[in-house]
Amino acid sequence: MASNSWQQSLKTALSGKGSERLDKHPQYNPDAARLFAPVISPQMDQQIDWTDDNDPLLRQFIPAKDELIDATSLSHDPVGDVAATQATGVIHKYHGRVLLIASGSCAVNCRYCFRRHFAYGQQYAPRHNWQAAINYLAGDNSIHEVILSGGDPLTLQDDTLQGLTTQLEDIHHIKTLRFHSRIPVVMPERIDQSWQQWTRKLSLNKVMVLHINHAGELSPAAGHAIAQLRQAGFTLLNQSVLLKGVNDSAQALAELSHALFRHRIMPYYLHQFDRVSNAGHFEVPQNQAHDIYQQLRQLLPGYLLPKWVQEIPGELAKTPLSG
Ligand code: SF4
Repeated sequence: MASNSWQQSLKTALSGKGSERLDKHPQYNPDAARLFAPVISPQMDQQIDWTDDNDPLLRQFIPAKDELIDATSLSHDPVGDVAATQATGVIHKYHGRVLLIASGSCAVNCRYCFRRHFAYGQQYAPRHNWQAAINYLAGDNSIHEVILSGGDPLTLQDDTLQGLTTQLEDIHHIKTLRFHSRIPVVMPERIDQSWQQWTRKLSLNKVMVLHINHAGELSPAAGHAIAQLRQAGFTLLNQSVLLKGVNDSAQALAELSHALFRHRIMPYYLHQFDRVSNAGHFEVPQNQAHDIYQQLRQLLPGYLLPKWVQEIPGELAKTPLSG
C-alpha cells in the first residue's frame, strides 16, 4: 500500500529524522538520547522557535543533560500501571473505564512522559492481537468506556483501529470510546479523509482527550485537524502536565485555556508531574504549583479552569489537589 502523507511523516519522526536541527542544538545530549529515543514530528519542528534556547516546545522534546540524573525518589512506573494490568495491554484502575495500551509508538517522544520506561514490547495489545483485551472487556459488564492510549493510538492504521472498534461496538455494555492522543496537534495531517470516514460511522460516543501543554503547539494545521474531529462528532477535551520551563506560570496556562476554547476544546486536567525517573527536572514543586493554580483561578472563568490533579498509584480516582 502506498504511504500517504501522515504515514510518511510518522516514519520520518520514528526514524529520528523529524528535525534536522534537534541533534545539532547545543542542549542536545547524546547520553540522554540513548536513554529515551528522541522523536519529533516535522510539524513540531516547524512550531519550535529555534532562536530561543528556552522555547517551551523545544524543552519538551530535546534530550537534555538533566535526564542523566536519576534520583531514587523517582520511579520507572510512577502511576502504578504494572499493578493495574489485567491482561496484555489492559489497564483497569477506575470503575467503569478501562485503558488499552493500543500502540507503543508516538509521533513525538515527550521527555517528561510517565511511560518513558514502560515495557511496550511486552505490554501492548495489537502485538499480541486484541483477543485477550476483548475477552476481558466482554466479561465485565460494569465497563462502559474504553480508552485507547499508548503510546499514541493514532499511530495505528485506520483498518487496525476499525478492526478493534468494530469488536467494541459488538459488546453491548460499552457505550463510549475515548482516544488519548497528542497526534491531532503534533501531526495534524493524520486526521485525513480516511479517518473522517470511518470515525463518522462509529456508533459509540466519541471522546478525544488531547494532550496540549502550551498555546504555541496550536498551529493553523492543528486547528484544521481539530475542526475535522468536531465535524466527525468528537467531544474534545484537553489534558496538560504542569512542567517547569514549559507552562509553569498562570499566564501561560490562561493563554492555553483561551487558545483551547477558541478551538472548542474544553480544558479538562492539569496534571501534577508524575514523578518518573530521568525527568525530575520538569517537576514544579507542589507548593509552587499551588500558588500558580490560585492565580490561574483568578484569571479564568470557572469553565476554562482545568482540574489540577495527581494520579496516585492504587487510588480509585485521580486526586484533586486544589482546595
Ligand atoms: S505523546 Fe503521550 S505517550 Fe507519547 S511520549 Fe508524549 S506524553 Fe508520552
